[in-house]
Amino acid sequence: MEVKTLKDIDLSQNPVIAQMSLNNHEQILFCNDNATGLKAIIAIHNTVLGPSLGGTRMWNYNNEMEALNDVLRLSRGMTYKSSVAGLNLGGGKAVIIGDAKKIKNEALLRRFGKFVDSLGGKYITAEDVAMTSRDMEIIKMETDHVSGLPENMGGSGDPSPVTAYGVYVSMKASAKEVWGSDSLHSKKVLVQGIGHVGEVLVSHLTKEGAKVYINDINEERLASLAAKYNAEVVKADKMFDLDIDIYAPCALGATVNDDTLSKLKCKIICGAANNQLANEKVHGEAVGKAGILYAPDFVVNAGGIINVFYELEGYNRERAMSHAEKIYDTTFNIIQVAKKEGIPTYVAANRIAEQRIESIARINAVL
Ligand code: NAD
Repeated sequence: MEVKTLKDIDLSQNPVIAQMSLNNHEQILFCNDNATGLKAIIAIHNTVLGPSLGGTRMWNYNNEMEALNDVLRLSRGMTYKSSVAGLNLGGGKAVIIGDAKKIKNEALLRRFGKFVDSLGGKYITAEDVAMTSRDMEIIKMETDHVSGLPENMGGSGDPSPVTAYGVYVSMKASAKEVWGSDSLHSKKVLVQGIGHVGEVLVSHLTKEGAKVYINDINEERLASLAAKYNAEVVKADKMFDLDIDIYAPCALGATVNDDTLSKLKCKIICGAANNQLANEKVHGEAVGKAGILYAPDFVVNAGGIINVFYELEGYNRERAMSHAEKIYDTTFNIIQVAKKEGIPTYVAANRIAEQRIESIARINAVL
């Protein structure tokens, strides 16, 4: 399904309700509290598969409409991510408007927690940009509908090892398609961003005998991980000129763009970063034309949401890891559908997500 934009709205309609109907959002909760200065929006996109789950982002938006657009876009993204990962979760997201450094305090977070609680579990929150595990602890004082908590609070802890494992198996499934074998032995892989996820990915890759190149803005970390994993450091300005087999973006979004696509020599793009395609429609097609197999980011990096899902059931890392392993089959299936239908891989992933939601909605409708 194509994302519709503001241009498609009939302006004689209420702009908020019209926005909701564009991509079929179920519910929005606008939260305001003058005493604490809280202004937040909780968007529930779809709850067919289960309660909506997605992090709370705190951001100093230029205006409320920008915040609304962001929360609508992000909550919809969560619906697709959870659906394609085979989780019984819907999509939701929350944004708190304002500069975290200036206005975030206990009272504001607890007030926000009360709003989350008022939804009775239809929305479950977690950490996102400018929110910490301590903030989640505070929100949890007012509601049980919080996930992604640290281990010392009975939570699932750092999701990065699960995410990294998902990236690794997704890469193997992509390799099977491109080279007929899922072995990554002697494949040249560039990992951009060797943070929480990137480092664990590098460790899986080196264990399998891949030739790993690493890039990061943190020079100290680069030097220490290069020595630890016998990886080769590559400077940012040389990175996209390298002769490599696989590019794994694990730092930031929009690195698959006109500029990088004109240089990249790899056969596969598969990494953890969110929103890798600078323009989904344009670059989702352009990668294919460049002869590169793009493993859709929201399929590849689903380990994070998988980890949080298992926290809801009483956390068990083995179960989370074994679910993350299924990202191999999911990736391979998406590639086959894309090939058969002659569509970009991200479109195939969206279709599979929508089909699952539609089929479960039909079951739910049966009395
Ligand atoms: P992180 O902050 O631990 O690591 C990011 C790394 O990227 C850091 O080492 C940082 O120095 C580096 N970096 C930042 N800007 C860079 C640049 N311009 N060039 C090169 N390196 C740069 O983050 P993480 O938890 O490892 O997550 C990595 C990516 O995966 C993020 O985009 C995140 O949103 C996404 N993601 C993470 C998870 C998870 O479980 N942690 C789940 C889903 C998606």
